[in-house]
Amino acid sequence: METIRNPEQTSMLEFEKSAAWKNLSPGDLSFSFPQSIAGDVESAVANASAVMAGWARTSLAERIERLREAQRAIAAAKEELSHGIALETGKPITEAQGEVGAVIAKIDLTIEDAGSHLAERTGLGGPHPSLVRQAPRGPAVVIGPFNFPLHLGHGANVAHLLAGNPVIYKPSPLAANVAAKYGRIMETAFPGGVFQLVQGGGVEGSALCLDPRIRAICFTGSVPVGRELARKLAGDFSKDLALELGGGNALIVCADADLDEAARAAAEGACLTAGQRCNATSRVIVERSVAAGFEKKFLEALAVFEPGDPLLAATKLGPLVSAAAVARYERLLGEMPGDWLLRGRTEPIVAGKRGYWVRPAVIHREDGRADDAECFVPIVSYFIAEDLAHAVRLHSTTPFGLTASVFTRSEETFRRLGAELEVGNLYANLPTTFSPSTLPFGGWRDSGNSRPGGRGFIRYTTREQAVQWKGFFSKTSPNGTPDPA
Ligand code: NAD
Repeated sequence: METIRNPEQTSMLEFEKSAAWKNLSPGDLSFSFPQSIAGDVESAVANASAVMAGWARTSLAERIERLREAQRAIAAAKEELSHGIALETGKPITEAQGEVGAVIAKIDLTIEDAGSHLAERTGLGGPHPSLVRQAPRGPAVVIGPFNFPLHLGHGANVAHLLAGNPVIYKPSPLAANVAAKYGRIMETAFPGGVFQLVQGGGVEGSALCLDPRIRAICFTGSVPVGRELARKLAGDFSKDLALELGGGNALIVCADADLDEAARAAAEGACLTAGQRCNATSRVIVERSVAAGFEKKFLEALAVFEPGDPLLAATKLGPLVSAAAVARYERLLGEMPGDWLLRGRTEPIVAGKRGYWVRPAVIHREDGRADDAECFVPIVSYFIAEDLAHAVRLHSTTPFGLTASVFTRSEETFRRLGAELEVGNLYANLPTTFSPSTLPFGGWRDSGNSRPGGRGFIRYTTREQAVQWKGFFSKTSPNGTPDPA
């Protein structure tokens, strides 16, 4: 296959169309990973279809045992996987370790969810004995983003596998090498064809999603790609399409807030993963009476986020993932309307290494205009609200609805404001990035299509079937459940 990717490329489009590529480490551009090659979509889908019936027939106990085997292997490889995430995506190593920890814990949480979700329901009344069962949907495709290259795809992978669906995981091409390590562990733990990893970009992702043999898709990525998939699949009722998309998340600082805590949370929300999180704080909305005091504390809190080597435990701000991301950061610095409270800049060399570092920036905006595009770099739009009603109006100027956080000492204010914020994840006095795996995590409006990922994703891996019978199955149901009659 032809290698057409230029490592210094800035066009994601060109990259997404390439069949082979080499990633550079964003925190050390002299380090280049081995070449990755796009996978064979047709044979992966054929394999998944071939093993579908057999995997669906396995008991939940057997599926759990396979996952436990994968869990033990992931735990044994925790440091290698964390190092791989940090090296390939630029995410600081402590964050990468947190991601792998979440991957391991996700298996326990999903097994717990599977027990209740997959159990047959009986005793529902009606003239005949009956039950409701959850049937596997069919072969599933999971598409992952670069910023959580293992954790986000893994959550859907595990849920589908427990439900009896073979899975094809297509990770982000920007994290192909660490994803390959994860893929080898998962493939080894399951019978051939039950879990497969297919490398590639948009071409492979699109071909996988549109294949008629695929019955469930979990796509985590940007709004434009999610929208394109939803449009192309609009008439296909045989597929479930779960969309986990971008955000334009706001942290709202009320007049009675603890300003120190709010400032620290806003800085953390803006800078974790260098702003490349769906739940990053890209907007801060502050009530005018405390704006001056908050502003000073916010800029002080941001000063803690010094660019550093992502492989060092002390680093809080790693580089952006690619030259394309740096180019977008520079474009936003040039184009965003308003007064810069903190001027950002790129840092091409940090600790003697060439990389894609940028510094946080804050812009005071008076326009109140909607940002239709996700920010996804550490630039914060700072708005001053005359009162809480104005804060709500400012909040709703983006099309997104992922996370929002309200800083206030008053539960009543939180409840009142919260009722008006159209987001899938609502927090009080916590960073917008505080999204634990123990809860569902889904976006409203442009941020998703009401298929919450995180906890409970298993709901979207099955099809519900109502069964009733007359005249036979006197003692047990077709599946062995005691006959409710
Ligand atoms: P992206 O949309 O560029 O790519 C995501 C994945 O989709 C990649 O694997 C890519 O190869 C694949 N892809 C590209 N074109 C495709 C197509 N036409 N059909 C199918 N697949 C295709 O996103 P990214 O830059 O990798 O990740 C960042 C985005 O993900 C941000 O928008 C972020 O907000 C979002 N995200 C959302 C959540 C959430 O839970 N809501 C979590 C993390 C990231």
